[in-house]
Amino acid sequence: MKILVINCGSSSLKYQLFDMEKEQVLAKGLVERIGIEGSRIKHSKTGMDAVTTETPIPNHRVGIKLVLDALLDKSHGVLSSLEELAAVGHRVVHAGEKFATSVKLEPKVLAALKECIPLAPLHNPANIMGIDAVSEVLPRVPQVGVFDTAFHQTMPRSAFIYAVPYGYYEKYGVRRYGFHGTSHYYVSHRAAEMLGRPIEKLKIVTCHLGNGSSITAVDGGRSIDTSMGFTPLAGVVMGTRCGDIDPALVSFLAETEKLSMKELDDLLNKKSGMLGISGISSDLRDIEEAAGRGEARSKLALQVLTCGIKKYIGAYAAEMGGLDAVVFTAGVGENSVQVRAMACEGLEFLGIEIDNARNSVRSKEAVISTDASKVRVLVIPTNEELVIARDTRRLVSEN
Ligand code: AMP
Repeated sequence: MKILVINCGSSSLKYQLFDMEKEQVLAKGLVERIGIEGSRIKHSKTGMDAVTTETPIPNHRVGIKLVLDALLDKSHGVLSSLEELAAVGHRVVHAGEKFATSVKLEPKVLAALKECIPLAPLHNPANIMGIDAVSEVLPRVPQVGVFDTAFHQTMPRSAFIYAVPYGYYEKYGVRRYGFHGTSHYYVSHRAAEMLGRPIEKLKIVTCHLGNGSSITAVDGGRSIDTSMGFTPLAGVVMGTRCGDIDPALVSFLAETEKLSMKELDDLLNKKSGMLGISGISSDLRDIEEAAGRGEARSKLALQVLTCGIKKYIGAYAAEMGGLDAVVFTAGVGENSVQVRAMACEGLEFLGIEIDNARNSVRSKEAVISTDASKVRVLVIPTNEELVIARDTRRLVSEN
């Protein structure tokens, strides 16, 4: 069975084609600058060099058509006919409280996702555009939606209710939702497999640290708390997002700097985080390099980031009443030896002990704690696309 996985942004579209017999990626690529000058598709067949084609791509429908042409291409394609395509799985950011698992994208589901647009005004419209484009180009191929918020729907009310007037929860759905659910699900289950223990018996803190970052408490395989909130702005410090701040800062900055709500939104989402503190870059590689040269604010950015991660690990261990494993994933979590070491430093009292030699790993699965460490610390490259492909296969095979 061949399944196409799509992650659609407002001007981009990432895709992977899976052969589900061996769970192999046959081809993948990226359509960029949709609706903008200089649009292109970069496609690579597994084992071959990527091919980039610049061509006008006015909308997502044209983008999808180009993806299908690339998949059917004689030299770098992997399909002989579109009949081979069994289903399409989409990453969808926000399903509110409507869906706690992946679902087949039927008209009433799409209507429900449209109702979630006020909760994710930047993401859901783009995801829906991708779904509509596939429906137009491949009307007979079943589609499945896999939601970033779904895994966190198991959080108890005590973890998701904000202390603002309760009526806003009832009226607007104001609450913590959490994001990166597919990644937290994947790495927590993979950690259980790597440790050879049933996930039902494990208390795990999963640290998804990338451009956007979130940390989740996974107790017995269920998310019971997570650091992102109503939006993906909350939690640990991110590349350009501020993470947790005193909410009173918003009105303070609005008044003192005479900033509009739009400008504040921009400031906290795009000019804060590691970029805001370091003044150099949002990219951790640049910050590590500058800190290595002794640049004080880059050093400080690393300290603020890792102090925040440490606080979440401690808080979630307390919330779960124990801790068996900590997992690091995503761009920073998989690659930054320094961030992992600094975040775990001083946590020996919790039973966390990193082995420096094992911690030198990048982008591959490894246990990086010492043999004596009571808590296992793991690096696990995330694979959200594989979860989407598996859920899609399961749902289209059900009837
Ligand atoms: P992601 O959002 O998961 O793609 O993560 C992207 C971030 O990972 C980048 O902004 C970098 O800060 C970080 N990153 C990627 N590779 C490395 C590396 N080798 N060392 C440190 N950070 C890295």
